[in-house]
Amino acid sequence: MQQTKIILPETEMPTHWYNVVADLKNPPAPPMGPDGKPLDPAMMQAIFCDPIIEQEMSAQRWVKIPDQVREIYQQWRPTPLFRAHRLEQALGTPAKIYYKYEGISPAGSHKLNSAIPQAYYNKQAGITRLTTETGAGQWGSSLSLAGQMFGIDVRIYMVKISYQQKPFRRSMMETWGGEVLASPTNLTKTGRKILAANPDNPGSLGIAISEAVEEAASRADTRYSLGSVLNHVLLHQTIIGLEAQKQFAMVGDYPDMIFAPCGGGSNFGGVAFPFFADEAAGGKHVRLVAVEPSSCPSLTRGHYAYDFGDSVGFTPMMLQYTLGHDFMPPGIHAGGLRYHGASSLVSQMYHEKLIEAVAVPQVATFAAGVQFARAEGIIPAPESNHAIRACIDEALRCKESGEAKTLFFNLSGHGHFDMVSYDKYLSGNLEDYDYPQAEIDAALERLPKVKA
Ligand SMILES: *Cc1c(COP(=O)(O)O)cnc(C)c1O
Repeated sequence: MQQTKIILPETEMPTHWYNVVADLKNPPAPPMGPDGKPLDPAMMQAIFCDPIIEQEMSAQRWVKIPDQVREIYQQWRPTPLFRAHRLEQALGTPAKIYYKYEGISPAGSHKLNSAIPQAYYNKQAGITRLTTETGAGQWGSSLSLAGQMFGIDVRIYMVKISYQQKPFRRSMMETWGGEVLASPTNLTKTGRKILAANPDNPGSLGIAISEAVEEAASRADTRYSLGSVLNHVLLHQTIIGLEAQKQFAMVGDYPDMIFAPCGGGSNFGGVAFPFFADEAAGGKHVRLVAVEPSSCPSLTRGHYAYDFGDSVGFTPMMLQYTLGHDFMPPGIHAGGLRYHGASSLVSQMYHEKLIEAVAVPQVATFAAGVQFARAEGIIPAPESNHAIRACIDEALRCKESGEAKTLFFNLSGHGHFDMVSYDKYLSGNLEDYDYPQAEIDAALERLPKVKA
């Protein structure tokens, strides 16, 4: 029988995370403070605890995973790598397709990989409360669970439109002890100002981040926690790619192309960077493809410039591909991909042509997700459907050209809380949104005037 499920023994779980900064020829551009000068790490201490700041700035290639974090990881890690034989057959492609399934974590996605160490380091630093934001609820639920494990209170500013549309994600966060508020709230200056201008503002990730950062900066016992974008989050997620390398070695195969959905860039960096390390060490070239929605095309159509991470401008400015920090994304169903910018590391590597990016429209991503579910059984998160779309498109190209490429994508989460979105697709009521060029051009005018 053909091997379809490649299981890495628990004893083989990686002991260190990989930091891609060590293998970049150009050092990352520094974050900038409000005065347009490189940020003093002391300024970050109001928002992040010291061990997190240290990781954020680190250029050390290997970072040890704390024993307590590895013990918790072992509840669901190593995650399985699957060979998608049935999908290959359904497509009639000579390509080999593999996927790594991060949906088996208790929270249902890769996000727990970073929530656990973030709660751990904050606990070590004596922090008792964390604030954060969540869109679709994937990050909020992961941090609620992680906070529960380490005895840290978690307050989550949830984008109001998602709060209303995804009541079960909220119940999930509350089940794990998190406190969930619909953002904008009247608890922060940011929220009050936005509500005064428009009481019906549906919220955005950028606004929710502003609220969570504002609260963390105002309290000594509280720090802020971010589920993507930052270097330390991508670092934690490299456990995905490091495990996958060992699993490919077990079956004597190696990918030609890797696909991952890209919102802030954490699961993409997590799966792709360890393979970039192979290449940097003289290995073969692997094409690393970040897949984003055509309605929120930060990498493929954004500006490479310094911009804030939130809508109000509380966060440091980072050099990144951005659609503008005040971008209000269309209401697409892949909530985790509705972010105006992208990780600085992913942006830099895209700018230096070390990685690739493609944008795909919403309806086609659900078509791919349904095709995948019917062949492989797993119902993917709408975010993951983006990677599946791009991977299937490549497998179909292979069918035309007769090439037997090895394709690999990250199945970042399951879609069990997204069935309303699947319903819409199945009943023919899902729409594509294109992001107008005029909006992208206009955003450039509103970017902070900081030289890259
Ligand atoms: C949040 C999320 C994403 C996108 O976030 P990244 O930081 O880009 O990884 C993708 N897939 C799932 C399932 C998510 O929850």
